[in-house]
Amino acid sequence: MINGVPELEDLGDVNGKNVLVRVDFNVPVRDGVITDDLRIRSALPTLKWLVEQGANVTACSHLGRPKGTPNPEYSMDPVRAHLATLAPEVKLLENLRFNPGETSNDPAFVAELVAGQDMYVNDAFGASHREHASIVGPPQTLPGAMGRLLANEVEVLMGIRTQPRRPFVAIMGGAKVSDKLSVIEALLGVVDQLIIGGGMAFTFLAAQGHSVGDSLLEEDMIETCRALLDSGARIHVPHDVTALVGGKLFEPEAGGEVRQMSADLPDGAMGVDIGPGTAAAFVDVINEAGTVLWNGPMGVFEDPRFEAGTRTIANAMAEAGAFTVVGGGDSAAAAKQFGVDVDMDHVSTGGGASLELIEEGDLPGLAALRR
Ligand code: ADP
Ligand code: MG
Repeated sequence: MINGVPELEDLGDVNGKNVLVRVDFNVPVRDGVITDDLRIRSALPTLKWLVEQGANVTACSHLGRPKGTPNPEYSMDPVRAHLATLAPEVKLLENLRFNPGETSNDPAFVAELVAGQDMYVNDAFGASHREHASIVGPPQTLPGAMGRLLANEVEVLMGIRTQPRRPFVAIMGGAKVSDKLSVIEALLGVVDQLIIGGGMAFTFLAAQGHSVGDSLLEEDMIETCRALLDSGARIHVPHDVTALVGGKLFEPEAGGEVRQMSADLPDGAMGVDIGPGTAAAFVDVINEAGTVLWNGPMGVFEDPRFEAGTRTIANAMAEAGAFTVVGGGDSAAAAKQFGVDVDMDHVSTGGGASLELIEEGDLPGLAALRR
């Protein structure tokens, strides 16, 4: 049991039992070829354990957003072929989202899923914040448990939420404050220091009275950011930025100038990365930390001209003595791109799910298993 949720061992004897396993095989597929099979490999410990114990295992997952109707573009065929090379004993159902009942949590679709099954295992952390049929439905009628991947995510993320090694530093970035406001508010209750970078930093800077030029700005969030800054919490915002003046993102050939500036940007300048001074200051905070949670890139790291801030933070985390956790799809991609994903203590497989678990302390998929 973790957090009151049964684990595989709590299922009892699974020998000869039909076990339905909800996995997250929502992998990137290009021209019928899987470009990154991490999510498939991450589910293997659970699938293999069940097979070794003698269970008849049927896995199921969504893939992409086919919007409730069969679409060959989102067929599970490439995933099924790949799975056959890794765990040939495991059957795989067709894309759950070919049926509109998946996202609407239709009892008729749940009945279809559990027909002939004896037990249910959820190992789809990345989908466990959703009240979808395959996540919350089966454990209503079948004995259920969480798989290894889900258990590990819950253990790590609940661990830093409830008893982090201090000081606990959260680094938030990415595009928008509005996406992450509720988690920022929740984190302020548990972290010792909050670092803000990425596009969202400019709304905080605007709240401090800085001019932000052509940077990403959410006018309607300025008051909220001001209240957070005034709350007395230890919030670090950039004091210098890397800006693009003229030109275009992702198009170096379109000209434009890359300039280091103080946090007061003139019109025509777009802040797209934290500056070197800010990056160094953030590294100092990381080096003092007992726990670091990172969600959201510090800049538009997909454009090599603006990856420096994100790279510096990722490298500092990789070398830090702190317990380091990366949540968020783009942050995980950045850590991988810089070759430091392997140096982190935990890279979460779920973006939205990891934030919701830290914010709420629970997920619909966990609550359904707890009953
Ligand atoms: P994660 O997936 O790690 O949670 P988000 O999805 O919140 O991260 O944000 C990632 C996106 O934020 C990236 O595509 C990045 O280009 C963008 N971003 C980061 N900094 C800026 C910025 N200063 N201006 C505009 N976009 C930014
Ligand atoms: Mg993202």
